[in-house]
Amino acid sequence: PDWKPGDPVPYAALCTTFSLIEMTTKRLIILAHCSLFLRQVLRLTPADLLSTVQLMINKLAADYAGIELGIGESLIMKAIGESTGRSLSVIKADQHEIGDLGLVAVKSRLNQPTMFKPKPLTVRGVHEGLLAIAKVQGQGSQDKKISGIKKLLSAADAAIAGKGSKAIDITKDKGGPSEAKFIVRFLEGKLRLGLAERTVLVALAQAVVTHEADLKGKVPSAEKLAEGEAILKSVYSELPSYEVIIPAMLEHGIFHLREVCKLQPGIPLKPMLAKPTKSITEVLDRFEGKEFTCEYKYDGERAQIHYVAPECIHLYPGSTATLQKDGKGLCAVFSRNSEDLSKKYPDILAKLENWIKDDVKSFVLDCETVAWDVANKKVLPFQQLMTRKRKDVKAEDIKVKVCVFAFDLLFFNGEPTVKKTFRERRTLLHESFKPVEGEFQFAQHGNTSEIDEIQNLLDESVKSSCEGLMVKMLDTDESGYEPSKRSRNWLKVKKDYLAGIGDSLDLVVLGAYYGRGKRTSVYGAFLLAAYNPNTQNYETICNIGTGFSEAVLEELYKELTPLVIDRPKPFYSHSTVPKDQPDVWFEPRFVWEVKTADLTLSPRYKAAADEFVGTTGGGKGISLRFPRFIKPRPDKNPDQATTTRAVAEMYRRQEAVAKENAGKKGID
Ligand code: ATP
Repeated sequence: PDWKPGDPVPYAALCTTFSLIEMTTKRLIILAHCSLFLRQVLRLTPADLLSTVQLMINKLAADYAGIELGIGESLIMKAIGESTGRSLSVIKADQHEIGDLGLVAVKSRLNQPTMFKPKPLTVRGVHEGLLAIAKVQGQGSQDKKISGIKKLLSAADAAIAGKGSKAIDITKDKGGPSEAKFIVRFLEGKLRLGLAERTVLVALAQAVVTHEADLKGKVPSAEKLAEGEAILKSVYSELPSYEVIIPAMLEHGIFHLREVCKLQPGIPLKPMLAKPTKSITEVLDRFEGKEFTCEYKYDGERAQIHYVAPECIHLYPGSTATLQKDGKGLCAVFSRNSEDLSKKYPDILAKLENWIKDDVKSFVLDCETVAWDVANKKVLPFQQLMTRKRKDVKAEDIKVKVCVFAFDLLFFNGEPTVKKTFRERRTLLHESFKPVEGEFQFAQHGNTSEIDEIQNLLDESVKSSCEGLMVKMLDTDESGYEPSKRSRNWLKVKKDYLAGIGDSLDLVVLGAYYGRGKRTSVYGAFLLAAYNPNTQNYETICNIGTGFSEAVLEELYKELTPLVIDRPKPFYSHSTVPKDQPDVWFEPRFVWEVKTADLTLSPRYKAAADEFVGTTGGGKGISLRFPRFIKPRPDKNPDQATTTRAVAEMYRRQEAVAKENAGKKGID
C-alpha cells in the first residue's frame, strides 16, 4: 500500500505482515517479520507505534484499564451478515462449514459486489473503531456494537493478494492478508498467528535498537540488541503499560528507558508466582545452604494495594486515572490479573490509613485478602470470599469481612524496592505498617531449615485454613522480587499435594454434557483443556463431573449457556471421534481449578500430545485421572490456564517418581 512518511499506517500493510506471519510456524521468522514492520512504522509514522503494537498483541489497552471487547460469536455473525447483505442463516451455514469466522467474513465480502471503493483503513482508525466498540455500554449497546463492527467491516478489504477472483479456495489460502479476516479475529480475541505477546516485545526492542542505530548510520551489534531487549523486558515487567513505555521510548531512546520508566503506584505490575513442589525434602534440596523462610500460604485472593499520600499525588500524573480519590490520598486494589478491584474492596481502601505509620508517603504492597470470621477471630475458607460481590460494593452492605495479609513490599516512599533482598523488604514492611487484628496482618512465618519444624509449620498453616506454605529465599541476590515470573526462589508446598502430583491445575471449560437422572436439565459433566502458548490452542485434557454440588451445577448452567457455540473453535485441539464429542461447545471464557489423582496418556485427549510424538505415547495426549472440581478462577483469563508444557512436566515427574519407587522396591 501507498505509505508515505507521516501518513497514518495503512491497516493493509499490517495485515500483509500478519499474513506472512501466518504462513510460518518458525519463531525467528515470525520475530523478523514483526520487527521489520515495527521498524518501518518507526521510520515513517512513529506516532502510530503504540496502536500498531496494540493491534499486534490483540489488546486495545493495558490490562488495568479494564477495556474488553467481550463480543461473542453470534454478535459477530450478525454484523458480518448485515454489512455484507447476507442472511444470518447463510452466515451460520458458512460458519458451520468453514468453522472460522474470519474466513466467513472474507467469503461474505468476496461475494458482495462493491459499489464504490471505501476509504482505506488505517491502523489508527481500526484501533479507535475497536476501542469505541469496547466502550459502548448500557441500553441498546448490542446494536451499537454491531453497527461499530459493520462500519469497520464495510471499509475492510477482502482481497486475497494476487488473486481477487471469486473462485478462491478460502481455507487453502487461509484468507491471505484480508483486513476483514483480521478485524473479525481481533474481535474474537484471537489473531491465531502464533504471535505471542512476548515475541512482540522482543521485536519492538530489536526494531527500536536498529532504528536508533540507523539514524546514526550504524548497524547495531548483537550485544546492543541483547541489551535493548533486556532493558525493555525488565521495564515492561515493572511497568506493564505500552501507553507509558512507548511514548517515553520515542522521546528518550531505549537505552535511557530504565531511568524514565519505573515501577510506580497506580500501574499494577504482574505478580511473582511460585513453583510447585511435592515434598519438604525437595525444598531442602533446592535451598541447600541458603537461608529461607516459610510463610503461610493464605487461601484467598491476591491483592496488590497501591497508595500515594495527598502531598505526593503530583509526582504520579500517569497514575491518577487508575487510582481512587478518597479525599485523603490515592489508593487502589488490583487483582492477580491487574484488574482494578477497588470497587470490590471499598472496606480495605477506607481503612488503609489506619495501617500505615506517619512517615509513609507511597507504597505498593503484595497481599492476600482472606475472608475473616469476626466472632471467632480466624481465617475462613476461600469459598466464603467467593460469595462477595465483585463490583460496586457498598461498605455498609458487606457481609463477608476480609483481612489483608501482607507478604511483600514492592515500592516504598518514592522508590521501587523490588531489587532489595527479601529480608530487607520484609523488615521495611514490618517497620512501616501497623497490623490490626482481623483487618491487616503480616503473613505468619518461620525462618527455619529443620525438616520437623517445617512440617510443624505446614500442619499449623493448614489448621489455620491456609493452603500450605510458601517457601522463599531470604538473602541472596536471587531473593529480589521477580515480577511476572514463576520463580524457583518461591516454592509452594501445599498440604494435599504431598502425596499427589505437585499442584492443582487451572483449566479452561470447552464443552459440556447434559446430566443424567435428576441432572438432565443442567450440564452434568464438562470437557476441560490446558493451554498451549506456542500454538495458542486449547488442548483437551479431561471430562469432569465430580466436585460439583447441585446448586453449583445450576449456577454453571446459567453462566455457561450464553457461551454456547455451534461447533468447536478452530483453535480447539480435541478428539474427532464421534462418541467423544460433548453435547455442547462453549466460547473459551471460564477457568476452573481442578485436582487430580494422577496423569495418564490417552488417545481421547490432546494435551501435550505434540511432546510425545514418536515416543511410546505417540498420538496420545495427557489426561487427568479422577479429576475433581475445586473452585472457579475468575482472576485468570483462559490464556493464563495451566500450560500443556507444565502438564507434560508434571507427567514426566510422576513417571520419574514411579520409576524411583519401583527401583526402591526392587532393592527391598
Ligand atoms: P498458579 O495456579 O498459576 O500457580 P496461583 O494463583 O494458584 O497461580 P500459586 O503460584 O499457586 O498461585 O501461589 C501463589 C499465590 O498464593 C499467590 O498468587 C497469592 O495469591 C497466594 N499467597 C498466599 N499467601 C502467600 C504468601 N505468603 N506469599 C505469596 N503468595 C501467597
